[in-house]
Amino acid sequence: MALRFRQRRTAAQICHILHRNLAPRQKRCILTGSSIDPAHGLGDDQRQIQQVALDFAQNELAPNMQQWDAEEIFPVESLRKAASLGFGAVYCSDQFGGTGLSRLDASVIFEALATGCCSTTAYISIHNMCAWMIDKFASDDLRSKWIPKLASMEAFASYCLTEPGAGSDAASLITSAKKDGQDYVLNGAKAFISGAGKSDVYVVMCRTGDQGAKGVSCILVEKGSPGLSFGKKEKKVGWNSHPASIVSFDDCRVPQRNLVGVEGQGFSIAMRGLNGGRINVASCSLGAALAAIQHARGHMKVRKQFGKTLDSFQYLQFRLAEMATQLVASRLMVRNAATSLDNKDPNAVALCSMAKLFATEECFKICNDAMQIFGGYGYLKDYPVQQYMRDTRVHCILEGTNEIMRLLVARDILTER
Ligand SMILES: Cc1cc2nc3c(=O)[nH]c(=O)nc-3n(C[C@H](O)[C@H](O)[C@H](O)COP(=O)(O)OP(=O)(O)OC[C@H]3O[C@@H](n4cnc5c(N)ncnc54)[C@H](O)[C@@H]3O)c2cc1C
Repeated sequence: MALRFRQRRTAAQICHILHRNLAPRQKRCILTGSSIDPAHGLGDDQRQIQQVALDFAQNELAPNMQQWDAEEIFPVESLRKAASLGFGAVYCSDQFGGTGLSRLDASVIFEALATGCCSTTAYISIHNMCAWMIDKFASDDLRSKWIPKLASMEAFASYCLTEPGAGSDAASLITSAKKDGQDYVLNGAKAFISGAGKSDVYVVMCRTGDQGAKGVSCILVEKGSPGLSFGKKEKKVGWNSHPASIVSFDDCRVPQRNLVGVEGQGFSIAMRGLNGGRINVASCSLGAALAAIQHARGHMKVRKQFGKTLDSFQYLQFRLAEMATQLVASRLMVRNAATSLDNKDPNAVALCSMAKLFATEECFKICNDAMQIFGGYGYLKDYPVQQYMRDTRVHCILEGTNEIMRLLVARDILTER
């Protein structure tokens, strides 16, 4: 009977029993007080905010992340619970309902949330980027209309810059917006738009003027606008808890009052949004890497080969040490860049680019290494390490690819001052 029962189990279930039998001491959040504790260097207020986010990650996100990934569920209720904690408009001013925290606070929050579900946190971070762009640059009418709904996540937002023919060279975008009476009429398409179809408001960069960056404007398009439609849901390697698709504008009519900032300012608004977006997505990488290290450490303590647990092999100890070092170095860079945005440092663009480049690449490697430490089990979807690896891979590609990050850093270094 016992044998039959064992035969029905998958390899992963059997290994899981080993984990379940861990001493309670090892099952707790073992990183508290360690050299990679994310609370290191934070003040009391930040530690409190971080604890709220960590608790939410552990109780609401982590138990669901595998199901949301497998079934491609957009977790509306959980997102709204996150918003009720102040995570819907973290760094918007409190004038219309934003939480009024700093970029550094936001980074701490997104890292903590991503320990529970990197993909869902990444969507929250995009939503936050859009909310900030509206709060910072839109008219008070638009702000008072949208910020309260975005802060509560009663409404969701998407960022629309990339086009089928304009990716890294975003300033070559061709989606047009032409004035007609009291309206703009938009024509064109945006590609890879996260949240497409689910979001209620689309922050769209479109051409109102000549070629190049100066001819781009930023316009809000509400769901339900005539001429707005969505392509088929893309099948993605990771980031499966929110949809992405083409967003099409076919004589799509929106009131001129939906212009954000002034005509011709759109590209600058898009890039200002992305500076923060790069910190946010890098913070999501930090959280995933932190969780991956935690899982790898736990596995090393229980998995036995050659008569010993894996944590007794010096090669794996050194690998874990390197992962920890990469994580702390990444976090320092991300927090330094976030602080540079808070301080309006003139080098913020380069510092954000460096941090995004370094942290997303190192944290992806950490997740991949954690998977390696799990051996064959790491390749099974029963274990979360592969999901952290899949979810962080795309951070090297979006919000500006890491090649474009190198270009921005090189431009900064080569500039004569
Ligand atoms: C899952 C997912 C979600 C996304 N969500 C959004 C979203 O919500 N909103 C949005 O606007 N966009 C979104 N994007 C789009 C993303 O920002 C773009 O994919 C990215 O900017 C790269 O553009 P591209 O795919 O057209 O690649 P390309 O620009 O065609 O680049 C192809 C390759 O060439 C390299 N390359 C290009 N130019 C240079 C150069 N000058 N020097 C060296 N190398 C170069 C690139 O780095 C890349 O490796 C998303 C993408 C994905 C995959």
